[in-house]
Amino acid sequence: MEYEAGPPTRWHLTLRDGAVLELWADGYGIEDGAYEFSVLVRATEEEQGGAEVVARTPADPGRVMVAVARLATASVQDVHTASAPARDGACVCRPFSWEQ
Ligand SMILES: [Zn+2]
Repeated sequence: MEYEAGPPTRWHLTLRDGAVLELWADGYGIEDGAYEFSVLVRATEEEQGGAEVVARTPADPGRVMVAVARLATASVQDVHTASAPARDGACVCRPFSWEQ
């Protein structure tokens, strides 16, 4: 299985309890009351069988969107793309700064 759209984007989800989830995906949609994050990949039929395929490319059976995370929208306060990591690896929201 290989990324079709290059390295995925880094996302931060601030949860209602204040915890921050960091994940890497091409994008997300809202399905049935949940954020559904996914990546566009090239995968064999066998690889697709072991993954959660959420969208397909009609003209190219090997090119599919695979889910990487689902979270109920009610549990999420904020979603943003994380800035390119600073030298300390933290986003502007700094949830994982080494300096703290
Ligand atoms: Zn952030």
